[in-house]
Parts: sequence; structure tokens; C-alpha cells
Amino acid sequence: MSEVYVIGHKSPDTDSVCAAIAYANLKRVTKENSAATAVRAGEINPETEFVLKNFGVEVPKKLDNAAGKKLILVDHNELGQMVDGADKADIMEVLDHHRIEFKLANPILFHTEPVGSTSTLVAEKYFEKGVKLDKKTAGIMLAAILSDTVVFKSPTSTDRDKKVADKLAQIVGVDPLKFGIEVKKAKASLAGKSARDIIQSDFKDYKFGGKKVGVGQVEIVDIEEARGRKKDILGEMEKMSNKEGYDMLFMMLTDIIQEGTELLVTGDKDGSVTKKAFNAQLKDNSVYIKGMMSRKKQVIPPLEKTVS
Ligand code: MN
Ligand code: MN
Repeated sequence: MSEVYVIGHKSPDTDSVCAAIAYANLKRVTKENSAATAVRAGEINPETEFVLKNFGVEVPKKLDNAAGKKLILVDHNELGQMVDGADKADIMEVLDHHRIEFKLANPILFHTEPVGSTSTLVAEKYFEKGVKLDKKTAGIMLAAILSDTVVFKSPTSTDRDKKVADKLAQIVGVDPLKFGIEVKKAKASLAGKSARDIIQSDFKDYKFGGKKVGVGQVEIVDIEEARGRKKDILGEMEKMSNKEGYDMLFMMLTDIIQEGTELLVTGDKDGSVTKKAFNAQLKDNSVYIKGMMSRKKQVIPPLEKTVS
């Protein structure tokens, strides 16, 4: 049987990596697909590295080009976020919790639900099928749920995420809230990271009404440290815009403790887009927006509406 690659999005986050590992494992254990193999579409971030190390789980291999390969997509369904060559791959299934931007000529299994993380859906499948979860697999899914929901603080978080996380935490034997902060801290320091690394750590491309827009997000626990890097990050955003042809770039420095985002913006010269989309006034290319935590729920919809 030729291999079927279970893969998350580019610039993988913990959910994209861990949901892929857990879902590939489920496919193999249930014999639904004994050729399912988890892979990743890019370098793992420090948070994911911490999580995998913590549970002694191997880092999946990187798939550089998916052309001609069989894929199961987790945690994304937009072509712009797929591994290179995905347009020439055989996409067999999608399991996701994002908006649907997907077109395919033939029917496939497409499962998406508005929950806080893909790993919630994967874990529910384990429970439904009565597949026993070991500590490792439960642990990485728990970490992914805590990461995506920002320890249940994100508006994308649902009761189902909490319920599943509680079950997984029992298997692992940890307190979900305490473990969640530990997970988030692994990525939250900007010290020793270049502006480019900060921007790219979780960056997504969008096309809004023919405009090329990029939105990055980094979670922080120290807003002053982040503000100290503002100039540096804005400079790098300017460079990126010029080099890679972005009409607009947004960088969310999201404080998971105070629950708000310092939003850095380039390409919105008179601040009118930011004003209209977020009802916020840019000053020196940035503004602090209290309560802004989720790119998917609070940034992309108003931004798309305003720019298109
Ligand atoms: Mn993701
Ligand atoms: Mn996710």
C-alpha cells in the first residue's frame, strides 16, 4: 500500500503537528489505513518541540513536496497554507476547524467543526471508536488543545474542547490549567529570536479582493519585552512587504496573560483599514487592542470585509 501522509499546514503549530501524529496513529490502530504516516509541512516551533520532548514523541519527518502523494489534511484546508505540491497531490480527506476555502473535483471525506482545535476532533474520534489512548498520544493532543485555545481563553474555545481536555488530562495525570501555562511559556519569550523568526513563527497568507495580506501572530507573556522589539519587527515587516509584494502586513503580539494584542501594521498608511476593521487608531504603526486573542475569529473576518 502506498503511503498516505497526514499533514498539517505550513509554519506548523502544535495542533498541526500533534493532530497529524495522533490521527495517523488512529488510522493505523483501527486498520482504517495502515499506511497512514504523520509528516509536517515546515520546521516545528519551540512550543511543539517542548511538547514532543515532554512526552517522548518523535518529531515527524518533513514533507518538502507533496506532488503525486496521497494526503490527509489536518488543521487547514486553504491551498495557500498547504505543503508545496499539494495542488498536484491526491487529497483524500480533510479534518479541520477553520473556515472552508476548499475546492476539489471529486467528493472526499471533509470533516470540519467550529471547535477550538483539530486535536479535539481527533480525540473525540478515539473516544467514539473506543480506542485506548496511551499517555503520549493523550498528552500531545491535550497540549495541542491548550495551545490552540490559549488555555481556554481564546474565543474559539468551546465546551467540547474543555471536556475533551479534562478527559485527556486524566489519562496523562496533569492539571490542564497548570500544564497549559507551561506549554504556552515554551514559546512566549521573544528573547534570542530575530524579528524575522518572530513574524514567521505563525504566519498566514490571505488574498482579500485581489490584495495580498499577511497576518502573523505570536503569543507573549511579557508585553513590555514585546514592545521593546516593536521597531525591529516593523522594520522587518517593511522589508517583507517590499520583497514579497504584500499590500498589507499585520503582526499580532498577543499577551495571553492580560488577554489583549499589540497589533503592528504596515501598508495601512492612513490607518483607515485598521480603524474600520478593528475600531482602533494606529499610532506609530501599532495599537493595543484589549480582548483581541484570535486571528481566526477576531482579525480575519473584519479584515477580509474591510479590504475586499
Ligand atoms: Mn493551526
Ligand atoms: Mn488548530
